[in-house]
Amino acid sequence: MKKIDLTALAKKSVRTLQAYQAKEIPCAVKLDANESPYSLGAFENLLVKNALKQLNRYPDPEARALREAIANAYGVTPENILLGNGSDEIIYYLIITFGGPVIYPVPTFSMYGIISQALGEKHRGIPLDPRFDIDLAAMDGVVKKLSPKLLFLSSPNNPTGNCYSTDRIRALIKSSPGIVVVDEAYQPFSEEGTFLGSHRKCRNLVVLRTFSKIGFASLRVGFMVADAALVQEVNKVRLPYNLNALSQAIALQAMKSRGAVEKAIGAVVSERKRLMEELGSLEGVTPCRSDANFILFRVARATDVYEGLLQRGVLVRNMDGVVRGALRVTVGTPRENSLFLRALRGVLRKVRR
Ligand code: PMP
Repeated sequence: MKKIDLTALAKKSVRTLQAYQAKEIPCAVKLDANESPYSLGAFENLLVKNALKQLNRYPDPEARALREAIANAYGVTPENILLGNGSDEIIYYLIITFGGPVIYPVPTFSMYGIISQALGEKHRGIPLDPRFDIDLAAMDGVVKKLSPKLLFLSSPNNPTGNCYSTDRIRALIKSSPGIVVVDEAYQPFSEEGTFLGSHRKCRNLVVLRTFSKIGFASLRVGFMVADAALVQEVNKVRLPYNLNALSQAIALQAMKSRGAVEKAIGAVVSERKRLMEELGSLEGVTPCRSDANFILFRVARATDVYEGLLQRGVLVRNMDGVVRGALRVTVGTPRENSLFLRALRGVLRKVRR
């Protein structure tokens, strides 16, 4: 057989890349991936039944019904909306469409950097300020120097949990010569206002949303809202039939069941408050402000604490490599949160000994 170094055949930008860290780790209480703890998925309705009856046919390539439902809910038109197989896919499409330089404050969602690198685009992370807000002077400096085509702002930010100051986001939208993407994956859990709809005033603004955090992670449905001319360009790189028929049908049903979705969001927000208070009362634990469905907290010997929690069946996300001494816990059901807190108390006693 011919000896081929397959790794060497890959582009250098890909060879040097680390794959996104998403592993299935067996556990009793899963609080690592910022999912909703509530499955609202028993939508045994006509939409889903019809989709199941036509498995031989391609789905609606333009997902018209879902785009219309989203447009109606947010007071925009279907031409302002592009749907993706998760918002990850839209981030991918945006970087394919506009190219680099791509910039973003760090720490933040890792896919902005991973996709930029995979596509061979120049990318740069600019550290957040000590309060995890945008360092406006530093960002402005890089914007002037690099003239980035794309600037990604995750607000609320993953993994820190906080929203950035609205004034600072506005200032960057104004001063940027390229596209500013406000990634509002966690906005439904926040009391801060949305930027959705602001593309009318700021034509370089893209807002990203996802169904993943509000009860439908398995569907892989995300969308962007932007000026119709911008959507038209991104739509050229979209793969045909990128959203499967079952996901379209169930997401449409979710749009028609906003009450149930909102109720589940409310339950998470109220548990976040309890979790924040209880974490804050633990000696040696410092939770960061959160506007999202997870809490980043600092703790001594974070990796030992992470492992101790896992031994007790509770999976959180070890962020020690990203924010020193920090773990990220997703807000679960009241029972899951109590199990997490009990396990954490036990681990802290053991680690301190
Ligand atoms: N943006 C942010 C800030 C995220 O944290 C995530 C998921 N972790 C995504 C986008 C991607 O979400 P999805 O592809 O599931 O829509």
